[in-house]
Amino acid sequence: MGLQIDALVCDLDGVVYRGGNAIDGAAEALGALRERGVRLLFATNNSRYTVEEYVVRLDGFGVAAEADEIVTSGVVLEAVLKGVGVDGMGALVVGGTGLRTAVEAAGAHVVEDPREAGLVAVGWDVDFTYEKMKAASLAVQAGALFYASNKDATFPATDGTLWPGAGAIVASIEAAGGRHAISVGKPTAPMAEFCERRLSGASNIAAIGDRPDTDLALGKDRGWTTILVTSGIISPDAVSSVDPTPDLVLGSIAELPALLDDRANR
Ligand SMILES: [Mg+2]
Repeated sequence: MGLQIDALVCDLDGVVYRGGNAIDGAAEALGALRERGVRLLFATNNSRYTVEEYVVRLDGFGVAAEADEIVTSGVVLEAVLKGVGVDGMGALVVGGTGLRTAVEAAGAHVVEDPREAGLVAVGWDVDFTYEKMKAASLAVQAGALFYASNKDATFPATDGTLWPGAGAIVASIEAAGGRHAISVGKPTAPMAEFCERRLSGASNIAAIGDRPDTDLALGKDRGWTTILVTSGIISPDAVSSVDPTPDLVLGSIAELPALLDDRANR
């Protein structure tokens, strides 16, 4: 009996591409999944880019995606902040365009002065400096709302080494600010609930990713099927020791369509 899924929450880096290179067969596999009626949602903890920028990035890897099929931690943060109510609030943003766009879409405006910040939002920031750390930390000390796009300490770079991720930046501000940030990225409940709302009506959701602690932990307790690929951060010889234990391990997403239960051909 094959795998029965009608929706797939698909991680990007390590699944569809790694760094700047497409993963062999990924675009074809995603096309095949669509043909079989599997709904796709591309979910990433990276808040550097906006949804529109991801549509363009994916197109560059041969993957056609609609804007509402892309869920970044920035998009989830926007929804969370709308729920909290930050309209008119000053926001100190440590992060890229995606995070800034999310904060503004929620009704806040970006400020530089920590004394004007009712909100601090932190994500991955290649231009992170001591001054940014100081401003964010002072606002957190003064009681600002404190959110993080995710707490991934590292991410795999194209050269195979692990570079500091948003989590490393968040940790420095938590240390100096004296409080913990609320993360909205994988594997948190806000991200999972957002994906389930987008996939409303789906009865068998699967999550596919290269990081067990984020991509698979996201849906593990929600009844999702968890699929680990070894095309990213986890090498095939490290699979036996990962936590949580995946339901399925594949070399890459290219192997997935052949495993689906194809009722029409049974
Ligand atoms: Mg990944």
